[in-house]
Amino acid sequence: MGIDIKSEKEIDKMRQSGQIVAKVLKLLSEQIKPGMKTKELDIIAEKEMKRLGGESSFNGYHGFPANLCVSVNDEIVHGIPGGRVLKEGDIVSLDFGVIYNGFHGDAAVTVGVGEISRDARRLIETTQASLENGIAAARAGAKLGDISAAIQKYAESKGYSVVREYTGHGIGREMHEDPQVPNCTEPPYGLQPGTGPELKKGMTIALEPMLNAGGWRTRVADDRWTVHTDDGSLSAHFEHTIVIDNNEPEVLTKVIYG
Ligand code: MG
Repeated sequence: MGIDIKSEKEIDKMRQSGQIVAKVLKLLSEQIKPGMKTKELDIIAEKEMKRLGGESSFNGYHGFPANLCVSVNDEIVHGIPGGRVLKEGDIVSLDFGVIYNGFHGDAAVTVGVGEISRDARRLIETTQASLENGIAAARAGAKLGDISAAIQKYAESKGYSVVREYTGHGIGREMHEDPQVPNCTEPPYGLQPGTGPELKKGMTIALEPMLNAGGWRTRVADDRWTVHTDDGSLSAHFEHTIVIDNNEPEVLTKVIYG
């Protein structure tokens, strides 16, 4: 499968789905608090998504049973919202995807519940900055591996590891399109800088580094969805859907319009 180049009309539709994702994640970040069940976050997300006219990209995807992935502390990604009660000091990764007018948007943020430790704050800030470094490397003429290298180099310079076996992805009419967008440079998951497909104006991709305070290895829980750090260390996750341009890419999943 080739890598799809979107037309301006298609990109405009992705701007709209991206805005819905951004607004829902903003609302969740504002409303999360100690004592809340993770399922309540899913209910808020669903209600706001529907109010804005979107439909869930995640619900039913390979059988995933919710609209929102909620991953707490040592959970990296794909946590299923349920009866877990959030406590002061927890960190929570919220990953959300919407389809609107036939196009998907996908983004994630990690937020603190009440007051969090300095170490947790630093992990969150570094993960966000690692995503921003990946975005800065994503421009027409560069290679896909330049993004992977930028993400990993920044994360490791701050003493964290990047999760290797889960990657970003192309996105558009499907939530997951070619290419996979690795967060590291080592085979078999990664891409060396200067290697991989050339980035072209109009490609739409989701970058999503996951950083662990400890080692990069992961394990999947008995629910067959929730991915944990293997060593129990904290993990954070940030994601944006972007469109490649000749200069800085356009970030489709940050709140722009009101
Ligand atoms: Mg994604």
